Amino acid sequence: MEKTDKPELNYPEIMPVLPVRDTAIFPMIIVPLMIKDDDNINLIDDALKGDKLIIVAMVKDKKKKDKDLIKTYKIATICKIIKFTSEKEGRVLAVQGLSRANIDEIISEHPYKQARITELKNIEHSGKEIDSQMTDIWILFKQIVNLSPHLANELVKISLHIDQPGPLADMITSTLKLDRKKKQEMLETLDVKKRLEKLNLFLNEEIQFKSMGKELQEEVEMGLDQSKREYYLKEQLKTIKEKLGMDQSEISEIEELQEKFDEKDLPKDARKVVNKELKRLSKMQPISPEYTVSRTYLDWFFDLPWLDSTDDMLDIKQAEKILHQHHYNLEKIKQRILEYLSVRKLNPAHKGPILCFTGPPGTGKTSLGRSIAEALGRKFIRISLGGVRDEAEIRGHRRTYVGALPGRIIQGLKKAGSNNPVFMLDEIDKLGTDFRGDPASALLEVLDPEQNFSFADHYLELEFDLSKVMFITTANQLDPIPSPLLDRMEVLELVGYTEDEKINIATRFLIKRQIIEHGLAIKKVLFRKSAIRKIIRGYTREAGLRNMEREIGSVCRGLARRVAEGAKDKFIITDKNIHEFLGNPKFTSDLQTRTSIPGVAIGMAWTASGGDILFVEATMMPGQKSLVLTGQLGEIMKESAQTALSYIRSNAKHLNISDDFYQNHDLHIHVPAGAIPKDGPSAGITILTALTSLLTSRSIKPQLSMTGEVTLRGAVLPVGGVKEKVLAANRYGIKHIILPHDNRRDLDDIPDKIKKQLNFYFVKQMDEVLKIAFNPIKKKLCKKT
Ligand code: ADP
Repeated sequence: MEKTDKPELNYPEIMPVLPVRDTAIFPMIIVPLMIKDDDNINLIDDALKGDKLIIVAMVKDKKKKDKDLIKTYKIATICKIIKFTSEKEGRVLAVQGLSRANIDEIISEHPYKQARITELKNIEHSGKEIDSQMTDIWILFKQIVNLSPHLANELVKISLHIDQPGPLADMITSTLKLDRKKKQEMLETLDVKKRLEKLNLFLNEEIQFKSMGKELQEEVEMGLDQSKREYYLKEQLKTIKEKLGMDQSEISEIEELQEKFDEKDLPKDARKVVNKELKRLSKMQPISPEYTVSRTYLDWFFDLPWLDSTDDMLDIKQAEKILHQHHYNLEKIKQRILEYLSVRKLNPAHKGPILCFTGPPGTGKTSLGRSIAEALGRKFIRISLGGVRDEAEIRGHRRTYVGALPGRIIQGLKKAGSNNPVFMLDEIDKLGTDFRGDPASALLEVLDPEQNFSFADHYLELEFDLSKVMFITTANQLDPIPSPLLDRMEVLELVGYTEDEKINIATRFLIKRQIIEHGLAIKKVLFRKSAIRKIIRGYTREAGLRNMEREIGSVCRGLARRVAEGAKDKFIITDKNIHEFLGNPKFTSDLQTRTSIPGVAIGMAWTASGGDILFVEATMMPGQKSLVLTGQLGEIMKESAQTALSYIRSNAKHLNISDDFYQNHDLHIHVPAGAIPKDGPSAGITILTALTSLLTSRSIKPQLSMTGEVTLRGAVLPVGGVKEKVLAANRYGIKHIILPHDNRRDLDDIPDKIKKQLNFYFVKQMDEVLKIAFNPIKKKLCKKT
């Protein structure tokens, strides 16, 4: 017997649709649902204000995240909201299924889906056949409950009280852990006879599966294939987790992770590690500390560009254009970079030396690196090695450490997002070594093309291929770089810029950039040359351009404020008005006035920012044979001063100084700026010259500076940092330079155009120094090399 009920419209024609991912809801059954999406909250709020009725429909594609693209099955369930709680752990909605319904038409998507629906009624049957079908189902269900620890025995009793075939099938289906699609199939089966048949089939399958589990539990060896065994074990695990009260969301988190990794390109070894770790993770309690550690580890694996590279676009002409576009002059360096890139283009497998840019700060090292990356179409990443003493900073900490992370190299690659970036290792000369291992040797492995295809980071515990990375290093000085590292590098030196070059760079690059960065209009701001020169001379003391750029930035900031306050005129910045923005000059160029007094000589120093000049001042007052030294002088410099004094005393006659100058006097030598520590032997001849100048009351030639160590016998010995010192002297307007004879070769490194502006004197003995310092310069001992 068969009868079809015509659908009656007991429910509103239009209802909001709540999409769910994991299950279909059956009439009469109460189900809790986790609510994550905010749009759904609106839907629930609106429903709660009204008749509390909604349609719950299962989404077709579980993986689709884009709300607008989500499609649901047409056959769904009319539900009533029973309860809605919002707690820390999440928002839970309890709904009770009321009836099956067909979604006829979606009539709106925003703020949530609304649909026109028709209620669906069961196609009912009765009779002996149905009765015996129902008895079969009860028997099967009882077996299942016995085999499933998670199903309560009461369920069997409850099912015995349901005498309608349709609701019986629905109740049992809802307790089973069926695949979501099977559940939907059951929902869509309106004919109760067919519904019972299907359920019978599913129950049989389930019993088979469960009894298989039992056998496994008893550890009976069986010929189960691997995949079935795994599937079974996973199911078991789920049940155990549920028993332990673990959140279903954690299980799905692991599933989600697995899906994420399935879609990611990974080398074979990495995939093995990931799968092993995922297995470990799935067995952990989410609140346990190991869970977080393991989760972070997996996140690192996911974020690293194991196989992701950018495509190189190596066009040498284009590269040349980019280098010129961002850099003024530096012709030799640009040529060398282009040659380097050409070799890479012709023979990509050739692992040439690593480029190392050296020079004082602000001379364009980073910006050259950036241009190389731009020319190659690669990502650019930069890390500083300054102060790195611990090998673990390069190689990472083992995971057993609390808060362990990969080393800086791997961190840099994660940031780059590709495995072939241009990777700049800054300040390689500032690497330290101590008891925590030698970072330089770890770095050797990073830079060595023979080894770096399998770089071992302690945290990852798996080798990472660095062979596609293009490393570039930078350093301020070459001396501190460990020689095995230096051997692998090709050094390109950036010596610093002359005043004219700085003015050119400022007008062509820096000013424009700063004007734009500060939101000003290029046409509304004009920096006159005089202003730039004033910045260079009065506000900065550097070989590079960093401070100059910063000062230009300060001016622009001041202008931005004026514009914001309503100023509309064009601004013209000159040497006369620049102090309005920068305050009084920090440095005064008073070479002439300061050296006009006897007792003041100009020396040259080697500093981190390139080089500098320094004034050595000597004075004398009544006292008792003491020598006072101030200006934070180091031990070696103090010894130089003692040596100089002894030389003068033993050669007083020869120098035309009265023998007893030392009897009733104290001598004081001061080297400003007093707050900056200074040391080294290279001020020897300068101190001696300053003292002689004081004691003979003769002032020293203006625009003369000198460097050199002096011995007790007056021999002048070579010193270091000559190139930087000479460039600095040139920047300060020095015209004559005295250097130790043995430093002659150092001039080879100095650009010709700078050498042309200077007169060099190479000396072996102190006598010669004094002759040059005090006599009118008639004969040049040596001019230009
Ligand atoms: P470094 O890395 O050597 O400390 P940067 O590359 O940071 O120096 O350079 C400092 C600033 O000077 C940057 O704004 C850079 O663009 C600019 N700069 C340096 N050299 C040049 C140059 N030759 N031409 C144009 N701008 C330059």
